[in-house]
Amino acid sequence: MSDDITLSKALEQKGLLPYAAPAYWLNLASEDYRNCRRDEKGVPLDPILAQALPSPAELIDAPMESKDPLYEKEHSPLPRLVHQYSSRLLIRATGTCPLYCRHCFRRNLLPSEKNFITDIEILQAERYLQNHPEVREVLVSGGDPLTASTEVLEKLFARLRRARPGIFLRLCTRAPVSLPERVDEKLLSMLKNYKPMRIVLQANHPKELSSLFLEKIEKILGAGIPVRSQTVLLRGINDDADTLESLFVGLSRAGVDPYYLFQGDLATGTAHFRVPLSRGLAIYQELRTRLSGLEMPRYAVDAPDGAGKLYLPESVVSLQKEGQSGYWLLRAPDGSLHRYPEEA
Ligand code: SF4
Repeated sequence: MSDDITLSKALEQKGLLPYAAPAYWLNLASEDYRNCRRDEKGVPLDPILAQALPSPAELIDAPMESKDPLYEKEHSPLPRLVHQYSSRLLIRATGTCPLYCRHCFRRNLLPSEKNFITDIEILQAERYLQNHPEVREVLVSGGDPLTASTEVLEKLFARLRRARPGIFLRLCTRAPVSLPERVDEKLLSMLKNYKPMRIVLQANHPKELSSLFLEKIEKILGAGIPVRSQTVLLRGINDDADTLESLFVGLSRAGVDPYYLFQGDLATGTAHFRVPLSRGLAIYQELRTRLSGLEMPRYAVDAPDGAGKLYLPESVVSLQKEGQSGYWLLRAPDGSLHRYPEEA
């Protein structure tokens, strides 16, 4: 572990994602994080530890990778706000998370936004919402908003609702998965007051569906707040149909609707996590033969040039081979064409 801490400090000094993982999360692993087995790139073999422990592979920049792979800066009318899709406004409420997922697409941005959104920034968000009636939904994201206290979070929700009474709130958090004890009675009774609301969490492996997680999901659903899940397709963690089938069936049984399976974004330092798109398409095809409609998420990729979310396989036009690799041509709903690499 001391090597991980040294590496974490090196990452932080470079402005990259530091290390943080709750004891709860580390205890989900089948191996002791202090002396776990690793592959030739230094990435832990255990799917829980691979998401949490830094590895030297993160220091490698692959072609087409970007520190801002979704082009959020281009869609930011104000710091902390992203307005890419007309009906939805995303707020990056904080850059802090209980678990810093090594594959995070915002991994290069979070260290510069550690603090919770300031009063002035909230005021700017309120004004923005008042001036943009086309926005029907606010995504309160981060980082993980549940790193803030319930009181602080409630103030943010109250001000968003003051600016636009009744606006739909989507709370994007991994805390029910990474730190379920954060979902306590106080939080639940606060959230109940801010319906309509939906929680969208991230779950990547069946091991994440612990008894404590299931208990907390039952409480969230019991409070009348629907829950959906997003999953990132991750090499060596969940890139096989058996693992994903078990994950999506488990989520669905718990009352969590599998929402998206994401192809890996081209975030700097994450090439070792990405699964070739050809393989992702084959896995997804296999899942379609095994899962019901309720258990099946949509497979999607964010276009690497900021053109937004593209559904798979629907958007695939062709694969242009260039030696061992090449690129996929994908068509967006507006007809424009975009490239996504086929990586080895
Ligand atoms: S919890 Fe979410 S925002 Fe935080 S590191 Fe993980 S994926 Fe990124």
